[in-house]
Amino acid sequence: LKAIRDLSYPIYIEQDNVKTFQEVFSNHVNQSRAFVVTDDNVWTLHRQVFMEMTSNLLIETIVVKPGEQSKSFEVFESLIQTLINKQIKRDDVIIAFGGGVIGDLAGFVAASLFRGISLIHIPTTVLAQVDSSIGSKVGINVSSGKNLVGAFKDPVFVYTFMPFLNTLTTREFNNGMAEVIKAGAIYDGSIIDDLQQKSFDMSILVKAIMVKVNVVKKDKYEHELRMILNFGHTLGHAIEKAHNYDVIKHGEAISLGMKYALLLGEKYGITDASTTKTLLSLFDKYNLLNHTLNDINSYIEFMKVDKKQRQDGLKFVFIESIGKAVIRRLKEEDLYVN
Ligand code: ADP
Ligand code: ZN
Repeated sequence: LKAIRDLSYPIYIEQDNVKTFQEVFSNHVNQSRAFVVTDDNVWTLHRQVFMEMTSNLLIETIVVKPGEQSKSFEVFESLIQTLINKQIKRDDVIIAFGGGVIGDLAGFVAASLFRGISLIHIPTTVLAQVDSSIGSKVGINVSSGKNLVGAFKDPVFVYTFMPFLNTLTTREFNNGMAEVIKAGAIYDGSIIDDLQQKSFDMSILVKAIMVKVNVVKKDKYEHELRMILNFGHTLGHAIEKAHNYDVIKHGEAISLGMKYALLLGEKYGITDASTTKTLLSLFDKYNLLNHTLNDINSYIEFMKVDKKQRQDGLKFVFIESIGKAVIRRLKEEDLYVN
């Protein structure tokens, strides 16, 4: 069991031993019951392992439908209602067991119910393990945009169990790899070398987690540094929005966004062609560039309404060299590649 203790809560990464959870849990929580929020897919596939992991606990389970649609006010409200019906109390604990959707949804419930009850993340996708379970952001979508309603909620701890990843579809696995490549591109170039030389393993997972941990540790509330995590996301969010979140997955959208940011970087003399080439070949390796985009101009309106953007121009993340991101302010007309 590996423990990362750089944040105000620990992140545990377990290679394969189901028994370590119980000790971790009892070291952090004075409770013998827990309310598990999960989705249908995860519960069907991993119920057994989960029950083994938590065999000393009394478990109440709430299962929601898989998919981004569950990050809604309706599901949020019904989840709260269900928890209250099941007699949840202020000093109980919620376990978010699933991908990014479950972490955000159950996390926001834990942040709001009784003004906050304890939360544990057990992320089950690559994306959730390296990205969304770290950094304390939780929230739901409203009709005008993703994650527009939310909170900062520190979990008691995050427990990442590698074998959960074995059941991911190739597309879901690759989707998370986009964030792993991003971590390498912006902060730790050795991740890029690793991905070129070997297949994904715990050491790469830990390195990618450390990128997020280091950035968030220095800048939790997104002043300058945390912005580098948005590499590829300015256009990526616009793509997701333009395509209604359905057809294109987050990792695929940000890969297209990263590709665009690399080409724009070349245009402004920030990125050199060999950096672009190295990163594009990795996106290809994980089949992340299979979508055909509309004309880039059609996304520019959407980019301007990204909630991260201010009046004084668009802050845009570029890659200077592998492992080093820089932020430049762009005017709208600067966004066109040619
Ligand atoms: P994210 O990609 O942000 O983590 P989701 O929470 O929507 O997004 O998870 C993506 C999809 O993968 C969902 O359909 C979810 O049910 C499914 N899923 C999550 N974890 C696993 C797993 N370990 N094995 C198989 N499918 C999973
Ligand atoms: Zn992302």
